[in-house]
This record gives sequence, structure tokens and C-alpha cells, in this order.
Amino acid sequence: MDLFRTRCASRGLACTHQRWVIYRALMNSVEHPSPEGVYEQVRREMPSISLATVYKTIKTFVEVGLVREVSPEHATVRLDANLEPHHHFICLRCKAIYDLREEDIEPVTLRRGLPNGFRAERTTVEVLGLCPKCSREEQAN
Ligand SMILES: [Zn+2]
Ligand SMILES: [Zn+2]
Repeated sequence: MDLFRTRCASRGLACTHQRWVIYRALMNSVEHPSPEGVYEQVRREMPSISLATVYKTIKTFVEVGLVREVSPEHATVRLDANLEPHHHFICLRCKAIYDLREEDIEPVTLRRGLPNGFRAERTTVEVLGLCPKCSREEQAN
């Protein structure tokens, strides 16, 4: 909660209970949920909340940099409350996204830079494969 408060304050965002509940749902998820997944989670605690409110709040979070959108490979947007530099493992079967520690992958360098006019903000590695659960299920078949 304190971290959330500090982060809100530094971004000029009012720290409301509703925002806190939504943010906490994002923080507590290791699988980079979709807004719908966050909604399912938050609804258990705040049954009156609407999906539109969750969308709107998440949009605000993304705009002020409290969470990030990840993975263009997913049809729906997936969210990441982990703002530390890190990489992702994406399961090709169930589409779950897991964090990989930055130090576990060699630094990525743009050896020749980017074509004219492009500006890099960050480089992330996506490791594609099977998560333990899907891997087990594949083997069972
Ligand atoms: Zn999987
Ligand atoms: Zn992540």
C-alpha cells in the first residue's frame, strides 16, 4: 500500500481505495493478466465494480506509468505491474506470461543501432515455449 501511495503521489494520481484494489490485483498476479482477468479478481472484493471502471482505471495506470502493457502477440492487452527491467517467458499453449529476471539473460544490445527515425525505449527478450503445466500435459498425450 505504501509503495502504491508513493507511486500515485509522484504521478499526481489520487490514491483511492478502488484504485488500490485494482492495483493490488495487478501486483499479485504473476501471469500478466488481461483487464478482464483483473476484473474477475477485483469483483470478488468489490461486487459493484463495473468492467468499464476497471478498463478506465487500468488505462489511467498505463498512462501514468504505473503498469505496462506487454506482449503484442496476444490478441488482448496484458498488463504488467513489474516496472523493473525484466524479460518474459510466454507459453505458446496457454498464453501465460511469466517474468524472467533481467540478470538471467545476457544484456541485449542493438549492434548496429536502429534504422533512421526509430527510437528505442527498452529492449526485452521474449522466450517462447511451454510452461511446466502445459509441458506436462503435452507429455501425457
Ligand atoms: Zn502453458
Ligand atoms: Zn513482466
